[in-house]
Amino acid sequence: MNTSNFKHPLRIFYSDDYAVDERLETVSKSKLLAEMITAGAVPGVELVAPKLATKAELLRIHSLEYVHNVLTGGLKYLAAGFWSKELLQSILATTGGMRDAVFEAFRNGRSGSLSSGLHHASTNNGKGFCTLNGLALAALVALEKVGEVGILDLDAHCGGGTADILKKNKKVRLADVSVCSYDAWTPIAKSRHFFEVVDRPGRYIAKVREALKALEGVEFLIYNAGMDTHEKAGGLDGITLDIIKEREALVVEWARERNVPIIFALAGGYMWSGLTLKEVAELHLETVKAFNS
Ligand SMILES: [Zn+2]
Repeated sequence: MNTSNFKHPLRIFYSDDYAVDERLETVSKSKLLAEMITAGAVPGVELVAPKLATKAELLRIHSLEYVHNVLTGGLKYLAAGFWSKELLQSILATTGGMRDAVFEAFRNGRSGSLSSGLHHASTNNGKGFCTLNGLALAALVALEKVGEVGILDLDAHCGGGTADILKKNKKVRLADVSVCSYDAWTPIAKSRHFFEVVDRPGRYIAKVREALKALEGVEFLIYNAGMDTHEKAGGLDGITLDIIKEREALVVEWARERNVPIIFALAGGYMWSGLTLKEVAELHLETVKAFNS
């Protein structure tokens, strides 16, 4: 399918439902990022409230029992740490934001959602702060319009949940470059799966290039833009802001040059090494800047 070039404005999905609890970095940093965007940190970007994900959508990516437990509080706690109506509203919003970002990218070339906590959620379980896998939902939604979709996961940790849901799907290509083996998964098809855990910062960008090469030919790209790869946000010593900027530019240019619609999710990024939440949000702003370039 031939789609349009990037058109302005860049529309990103976010609502106050996303940021539910200031104790949870995974879902509270989005509010700071939204405030920076609204204040003009990246001129011209529009924030749009998504529709909540529906039960029918969740059943496309998770088992009936798991969905029932998530929706009713049967789990007592979600992967984010506890169960509450507000937290449920948050994850339904951040999952819906991924679906709406797909529609927007088909219209205008690129979009994103200030969603975090997606890629460790598997068919039957949540873990690692991830309850619902909005990346997987976005892939299935995009496949309603194109023949092959790619998911590029550059979070510090591996996307084992996404692989659990989608690695048998022959219309989905998974490319996962991490710097930590948490939630590692085993590729089952060399033609569709690229998996690499990098332990030296000097090799990181080269591996990102290889991952993009492995995605050659996909007609839609979903980018899990984790900032926890950064040396001070939970990642690998030597992965600096300059490397992160280079990475974001590479990914966006790859999509632009090929006229492939692209969306992003925020994914990980933490205060573990002494960053403030504002500094974590500023790292994520690099993704927004690259998408708006
Ligand atoms: Zn992570």
